[in-house]
Amino acid sequence: NGTRVRHADPTHSRIPDEVSQVRKPPVLFLVIPCYREQEQLPITTPILERKMGSLIDAKMISQSSRILFVDDGSQDHTWQVIEGLHRDNPILFHAIRLAHNRGHQNALLAGLMTALEQGCDVAASMDADLQDDVDALDRMLDEHAKGAQIVYGVRSSRDKDTWFKRTTAEAFYSVQAWMGAETIRDHADYRLMDRQALEALSQYHEVNLFLRGIVPDLGFTTAVVEYKRGERAAGESKYPLKKMISFAIQGITSFSAKPLKFVTGAGLLSTLTGIVMLVYTLISLFTGNSTAGWASIMCSLWLIGGMLMLSLGVLGEYIGKIYLETKHRPRYNIQQRL
Ligand code: UDP
Ligand code: MG
Repeated sequence: NGTRVRHADPTHSRIPDEVSQVRKPPVLFLVIPCYREQEQLPITTPILERKMGSLIDAKMISQSSRILFVDDGSQDHTWQVIEGLHRDNPILFHAIRLAHNRGHQNALLAGLMTALEQGCDVAASMDADLQDDVDALDRMLDEHAKGAQIVYGVRSSRDKDTWFKRTTAEAFYSVQAWMGAETIRDHADYRLMDRQALEALSQYHEVNLFLRGIVPDLGFTTAVVEYKRGERAAGESKYPLKKMISFAIQGITSFSAKPLKFVTGAGLLSTLTGIVMLVYTLISLFTGNSTAGWASIMCSLWLIGGMLMLSLGVLGEYIGKIYLETKHRPRYNIQQRL
């Protein structure tokens, strides 16, 4: 009997341990970059407010969790709309205003770094247009509770995107894969990161920011949550074709020097072609058929000229990047805080 009691004792003493292991709900900062979203925000915020409320009620996040808007230097009334929201609910709605438009990626970073600075446990980023399903947040938090430090939201289908956006995205991922840069397929910037991951991110000082490439590079324990991507409710996409192309070039040149190798290969090939041409011309000279040369000379001129120009272009792309990085300029300036 005595041994049995002693045997039972350790199990009893383990109970308080387990109780103390029940984690406190994490403080969540929901970071929303906004650029000219005055029409969209009044639609978005009630949904987010309800979501945050239900997450707090379910004890999945702490009561001091908040929504952090980043106004990316909008020229319209986005900031005034945010100010109104903050007046109505100063506990939930916080905001920073960038001094001028720095683009989606820099706005996101500004928000994430502010969240880190203000003591969040986890920060999730989401677009203002709610194309990302807010209900996936529950599952992201579940994954976090199970130990994931970075949780990626991945679109399970893209049928709400236009045919054009789908095909160009597909092509982009293929090129990226071929370049050897690690990105998560069909993951936009809907993700959750814990403090440790955010701190690691704060050590990346590059000006040419491509978070979808940097975050997988951080490592840590990761998980993926799938969701259906919806349509933008109001306003138009802030990513016109021009921005999309430059974003894709950014994504490739920020993570890989392969285009340089490709150019070297192309240069080698064109040199070899030139040598073959030369041999052919010499032979035709000695065999007396030297009149037929005009076309081939013109062809090779154009060919080599083209290759040279291409190489210069790619080199310029990288040198431009080096130039920007060496200046170590701040990536954003915060003008106002709420
Ligand atoms: N955005 C931003 N700065 C910009 C462009 C966009 O902060 O210069 C924000 C925008 O308000 C939105 C998110 O980035 O919350 C994604 O933009 P959008 O929905 O227009 O892009 P798409 O979904 O069409 O790729
Ligand atoms: Mg969108």
